[in-house]
Amino acid sequence: MTLKREIEAVAICRTPYKQKFGIPRQPGLVTAARGFVELQPPYNHIDTVRGLSQYSHIWLLFTFHENLSQGWKTTVRPPRLGGNEKLGVFATRSTFRPNGIGQSVVRLHAIHQRKGKVELEISAMDLLDGTPILDIKPYIPFSDAIEGAIGGIAHEAPVLIDVRFCDAVLGQLDKLSKDKYPNLKAIIEGVLAQDPRPAYKKAKEDPKHYQVALYDLDILWHVDETGILVDAVRPVQP
Ligand code: SAM
Repeated sequence: MTLKREIEAVAICRTPYKQKFGIPRQPGLVTAARGFVELQPPYNHIDTVRGLSQYSHIWLLFTFHENLSQGWKTTVRPPRLGGNEKLGVFATRSTFRPNGIGQSVVRLHAIHQRKGKVELEISAMDLLDGTPILDIKPYIPFSDAIEGAIGGIAHEAPVLIDVRFCDAVLGQLDKLSKDKYPNLKAIIEGVLAQDPRPAYKKAKEDPKHYQVALYDLDILWHVDETGILVDAVRPVQP
């Protein structure tokens, strides 16, 4: 059955995550990361969110906009299974889906109305900066939180690994503006503790150096025998 109905983004999500690599795989994993859901005209009227602040969390329905052009397959290789085993696309939270729709429950901190904009301040999201938001709904614990639900391959949060910073980086982080880079050190720790590398890399020695982009910074790191060591923080290279 083909439903031809044009839908448009009601908002755009602004987050510190400027590239897909490193974004937590689900919401709630990096609580230090704050973002904003910027309502777009004609939905940016304060009345559209009247009463929303009585909820602590909201659902965001969105599109995996950076993946839409790559289509979808009937089966995917979930990272949790080491990238070897295949599961049906509907048995996973894959980002390559028939309609490219994602859903995330995020913490709602405040609703701001400023300079003609209506923005929802959120945290603990798993969305790329610029993600189009299709719908916003209040999280309703009595029906959304299912006691004893079974989570299949994703029954538990990912195992965290240790994250350390070299002294030079600690000095640098101290000097960076807390307004421009809110919670930067905690976000770096939260993101890297998830070990963003592809599953097959985690099995063996990995001499490679990696980089994740947070705000307008590149965070450089590598894995050693005790976990992840952050080697450098520098402005994104043009
Ligand atoms: N919680 C959502 C869900 O279950 O539908 C998303 C889960 S999905 C595994 C989370 C990943 O989607 C992130 O780690 C990031 O790599 C990717 N992602 C986030 N925003 C995206 C976007 N706008 N386009 C493409 N991929 C995106």
